Amino acid sequence: MAIQRKRTATCDVGGVRIGSSSPIVVQSMTNTDTADTAATVNQVLALAQAGSELVRVTVNHDKAAAALPRIVQTLRDFGCEAPIVGDFHYNGHILLRKYPDCARALDKYRINPGNVDIGKKHDQNFRTMVETALEHDKPVRIGVNWGSLDQRLLTAQMDENARRSEPWSAAEVIYETIVLSALRSAEAAESYGLGHNRIILSAKVSNVQDLVAVYRSLSSRCEYPLHLGLTEAGMGNKGIVASTAGISVLLQEGIGDTIRVSLTPRPDGDRCEEVEVAKQILQALEIRHFTPQVTACPGCGRTTSTFFQEMAEEIQSYLRDRMPEWKSRYEGVETMNVAVMGCIVNGPGESKHADLGISLPGTFEDPVAPVYVDGRLHRTLRGRQIVAEFLDILNSYVAERYEQKSVPAGVQ
Ligand code: SF4
Repeated sequence: MAIQRKRTATCDVGGVRIGSSSPIVVQSMTNTDTADTAATVNQVLALAQAGSELVRVTVNHDKAAAALPRIVQTLRDFGCEAPIVGDFHYNGHILLRKYPDCARALDKYRINPGNVDIGKKHDQNFRTMVETALEHDKPVRIGVNWGSLDQRLLTAQMDENARRSEPWSAAEVIYETIVLSALRSAEAAESYGLGHNRIILSAKVSNVQDLVAVYRSLSSRCEYPLHLGLTEAGMGNKGIVASTAGISVLLQEGIGDTIRVSLTPRPDGDRCEEVEVAKQILQALEIRHFTPQVTACPGCGRTTSTFFQEMAEEIQSYLRDRMPEWKSRYEGVETMNVAVMGCIVNGPGESKHADLGISLPGTFEDPVAPVYVDGRLHRTLRGRQIVAEFLDILNSYVAERYEQKSVPAGVQ
């Protein structure tokens, strides 16, 4: 079933189009001290290599702002073209003015309207940031977060609610305040001269049901491209499952133009995990394809050993390793579906549905592994070389099935 994307404006961020019918963009954020140029460059490179099409870095103090131009230049020297987004809170209006090279080097500014120097000079500080964006022709993301919601607006909304004959619940008032904060800030930014197509909105909360309610409301009331993500999703399975649940429901409804999965990495964890999860969400929903999909059965009492699990892992790793080269050589290879099944119960059926499938022998079955290609029995493998022979078949299939991309003249 094809997903109908909600129509939005399109915003260009450093050459990456976000919104309307453009592919849903995967983004991520570094957790290095931005002032540490080498660490930040290395992490951005790793995130971009993992598939992050936009990378956000925090710009929280003078040293971070001063380091930004060199970080971006080094990334470009390494051939990394991922747009770099600056994340500003409290002092963004000061840093963007004080460090014009930083303002110029960034591809987008993220402004949190609840943290634009809370209090007296809120409107003027917000305006300064928007005017800097205008001056340097940069788009902005107005990123509302309920952990730092504009307290003036929340108080006004609570007061208004108290005057209702049938007051809303506290949660409904907070949802409305989050949405209003985003919409009113966007309206203010446009009144200062920022183009309608230079604004992206987000409204992050940390609970799945709240996220769905807030984004449904926001999406129905504007046509700005929307950045989706669950804030403070958490660590490990909890963070992955909660992010996937919230983001998937919205994407299925056609809501969302760029996604970020905010995982808390384990102490020695890999920051790139958030990129892998974001890609998996899009791939599982068949919205985008990044790498051939391996359909592997979970295994059960009918499997004689872990052999088929090892084989599924071996095939998955092989596909991952070969993809960079295949993707540059073969048109559409990322849509390929490979099935690795553990026994005869579902093996042949699932294998027939895949482009390429193998059904391994389960307990008490003949020690043979039929291979299916495009729904037909192709060969039956046996013996210790099953994996190697299956990978040979896989290589031949890719070479024959997917058209070679044309290589520009002069490129070997
Ligand atoms: S395909 Fe066979 S081994 Fe795999 S889960 Fe189903 S019954 Fe078990």
